[in-house]
Formats: sequence, C-alpha cells, structure tokens
Amino acid sequence: MTVLARSDTVTEMHLIGRTASPGLAIGPVTMLTASVTRRTASNDPTQEAAALRAAIDGARAEIAEQVKTIQGEVADILEFQVAMLEDDALADAAFKAISTGIAADQAWRSALDAEIAGYRSAEDEYFRARAADVVDIRDRVLAHLSGVDAVARIAGGSIVAADDITPSIFLAADWSHGGAIALTGGSPSSHVAMLARSRGTPMVVGLGPLLWNGQPPALALVDGDAGTVIVDPEPETRRQFEQRMVAANAAQAAADAGRVAPAYTADGRRIAVLLNVTGPEDLAGLDPAICDGIGLVRTEFLFEASHGLPDEDTQYEVYRRILEWAEGRPVTIRTLDAGGDKPIAGLTVDGESNPFLGLRGIRLSLARPEVFSVQLRALARAAVHGVLKVMLPMIAVPTELDRAGVMLDAEVAALTAKGIACARPPLGIMIEVPAAALCAEDFGAAFYSIGSNDLTQYTMAAARDIGAVADLNDAGHPAVLALIARTVEAARKRDVEVSLCGDAAADIRLTTALLATGLTSLSVASVTVARLKAAIAKASS
Ligand code: PEP
Ligand code: MG
Repeated sequence: MTVLARSDTVTEMHLIGRTASPGLAIGPVTMLTASVTRRTASNDPTQEAAALRAAIDGARAEIAEQVKTIQGEVADILEFQVAMLEDDALADAAFKAISTGIAADQAWRSALDAEIAGYRSAEDEYFRARAADVVDIRDRVLAHLSGVDAVARIAGGSIVAADDITPSIFLAADWSHGGAIALTGGSPSSHVAMLARSRGTPMVVGLGPLLWNGQPPALALVDGDAGTVIVDPEPETRRQFEQRMVAANAAQAAADAGRVAPAYTADGRRIAVLLNVTGPEDLAGLDPAICDGIGLVRTEFLFEASHGLPDEDTQYEVYRRILEWAEGRPVTIRTLDAGGDKPIAGLTVDGESNPFLGLRGIRLSLARPEVFSVQLRALARAAVHGVLKVMLPMIAVPTELDRAGVMLDAEVAALTAKGIACARPPLGIMIEVPAAALCAEDFGAAFYSIGSNDLTQYTMAAARDIGAVADLNDAGHPAVLALIARTVEAARKRDVEVSLCGDAAADIRLTTALLATGLTSLSVASVTVARLKAAIAKASS
C-alpha cells in the first residue's frame, strides 16, 4: 500500500502488508530502502577516486579484523584477500576509468569482472579457484561504496525497513535482542522469511512504497501476526501495543512449557515432530526433549556465514555439535543447497536467467565435486557422533542420487584407509521437484523429506520470492497435496521413512490436510513446536 506523505508534524502511520513471520516487536527504525543504500555518483573524478580508495581501505580493514577471529584454511583465504586489496595493481584499471568520468562503482565492477574472467580461464586449478576470492573482494568493496556495509551493524532490537533483504544480511544482524523486519516488497515464502520464522523474528512484507516528508520514521511497532506496521506511534497506541506484547510473551511461555510432551492426534496417532535448524546456534538453550530429532539442517547458511567455503574441520565441528545436542535422536543434515535465491559468492553461477531452474542444490554440488567431497567427508566423520542421516536437495532424477552415493562411498573408503573414524550415513532425498514426487518409487533413497516450499513453487509455477504471485504459492493447493500423498505412498511401498520439512509443516491451517496424506512426521522451527503440537492434538486421522 502507498502511504501518503506526512506533514512536518509527525503523526502515526498505519501500514498494511502481509505476515511473513509472526510475533510483535517495537523498536527504532533502521532504513535500508534502495533510496538510502543506492549510491549516487558525484560526477567529480577526484571525489569518485577518493570514494573508491576509502571503500578499498574499508574492505581491507574489515577483512583484516575478521582474520583475527578465524584460524586455518579460512584465515589463509582472508589473508590472500587482504594481500590482493593491498596490491595497487588490482585497482589500476578502475582508477584509470574513473579519470575518464566513469562512476567509482561502475569502474570497480568492470575492472574486477575482467580480473575474475582472467582467473576463471586460468590453466592452473589454483588460480581458477582464486576467482571466488576476487568475486568476494569485488562485492565487499561495492558494499562499502554504497554504504551497505552499515547493514552488518544493524543495532540489536531495530526494526529493519527495506525494499527486501538477503539471507546474508539477515544473518549478519543480531536478532537476539528483539527487532523485526518491515519490507516494502518481499514475499512470505522467501528464504529470509523462513529464517525470520526460525529465529522468531517478526516480519511483515508487501507494505508498498514508503513515502514521507522531512524526517524518516524513528520508531515502529511491527505486528507480524496481523501483517501490519505502525510508524511513529502516538503514546497511547504504543502503550496498548506494549500491553499486548506482555500478554503474548506470557502465552508463549505457557505454551512452551508443554512442548516437551510427545505429539499425538486426537485419535491417538503418534506424530514425530522434528526441528529445522540452520546451525548449532539455533539450538542454544533448547531442551532436546521438545523434539523427536532434527529433520533439516540447512547447511548453506554455514557456507554463507563463513566468508569463503568452510573447510572440512569447520564443517565437521558444526555437524558434531548438532549431533551431540540431539543426544541420540536422529539428525538429518542436508548437503549444500546453494543457488536459487541463496547465492554464494564464487560458488553459484552469476547471472543465470532463472536461478530457481538453474544450477542449484545437488546439481551445483555435482558440478563442483571439489566442494561437495569436502562436505561429504565432514559428514562421514561426524556420523560416528550420533544418528546421522544425510539428504540431498533438489533431486530430479535417480542418477543424481546414485552419483552422490558413489562419491560418499569413495570418501568413506578414503577416510577408512587413512584410519580416520567415520561411518557411512544413509542417503535420502528431498522431494522438491514434481518429477521426483511423481517418480519417488524409482529412487533408491534411504528416506524422503518433502520440501513443500520448493515443491509448491515448482508445482504452481509461482516463485517463492515474488510477492506479486504469493497467493498462487499455496502449499494447500490440491495439486501440491496430491504430490505429497503420492510421495507418502511411495515411501510406504518401499518401506522407508518420509517426513515434511517445508514451511507447510508449520502452517497449522494445513495440519489436518497434511496428516490426511498419511504423513506421520513433520519438521518445523523450534519456535513453532508448541503451536504445531497443539494443532496435532486437535486433528484426527
Ligand atoms: C523446501 O523447499 O521446502 C525446503 C525445506 O528447502 P528450502 O526452503 O531450504 O529451499
Ligand atoms: Mg527447498
């Protein structure tokens, strides 16, 4: 919705959008809309050169700071990046272009793109692998030039107002002190929305253009349950909202107290409730008794957060910590699902015409065996610390599973030959592509996990990150439910387990319909466990 311009006297504004993550939050507003972050060139070559110099220095200082807190292979990569930024030759072409009147960001991007192309076409594998570092350097300096680096310093507890934000911006901010997200665009099915739900951060999308006269908003109230935002509230509005927050917190605490009980339907069918996590930090302070295991670990966020690809030991430690937390309950870790709306600099393909239909998930892992094998080794080593199951994202045809299985066997054999403790975890597949749902029986998978987010977008031809088609992106559509039922039937015939780990599992309006497909296992973010168990208790088969 469009908000009319305000007069100089600040009066509260009511904005209506769509809920993307429930909950209530109040806080100071941090504006990250394009008008704030878009860079305006100065048209003065001297100023542009100075801006580029400052951005390079800023990026170099930032990386040097990160090196201090990291060890091993990742530190080496970052040190290499610092050395590159210290080499004046890297920016020569950009400064030359600036002197002819080109804007700093455009000049830097063109110069670095040429550099990246050079690295990518190098004969030597070592230099080809360095292309990813140069991509990272390019993007960091661009972020400094446009002021987007401020994103990483979003004060805890802020209401972040933006056109849209990426998963990496979300992960860079600290949400442990509250805060919320209010987007003029965005979609409830995007990965950021999913992350917000998993961390319990309220989020509203589709607010439409935010227009104001004079001062940008200072304070906002976000109602993630109703999908509304109140900007610069009057004292009475604020008081009433704070009262609602107190009541909501008390209700949540009461519901959480009952969430350790196992889930049964009204007619006594036992339903496994598993957790979706992005890493061990999601499990801090949680009692493992609230769940029957972990149904989905989205490892791509580990890759995104580590400024370069995490090495084998880093991955192994993360997987081991999750397995130890689970205390013998099954833990399903998904291999890297990069691509689509989860780009990883230097790994995913830039500029695909339709990234959701491109080289993502298992397709990317098979195309980059040097990256995939590191993850498989780390998983095989972690498997000795608990009940590990490994699943592959975006599987479309059986050969993808078969090729991954061959690679896993090879890594297990190599580790065993070296006397390194390891085990071969069972390999299952995600059912996210309609072709896989329709032909589920043809896969020799150890288990199935239904990714309803992607299964819905591919079935309904409605991208999960495009707000304008969000109504069509409906996991409760009979076509999606039919594909789920078909997968459950295939699992029954093959006598293997099947679970559902997409966001449909957390949507209690769908609980009855999902259980009617024969599903007996649902995987959700920890903040949803209490609500889901209560919904299961009301449903009958
Ligand atoms: C899904 O597609 O439902 C799923 C769980 O995977 P992601 O949301 O990470 O794509
Ligand atoms: Mg998916």
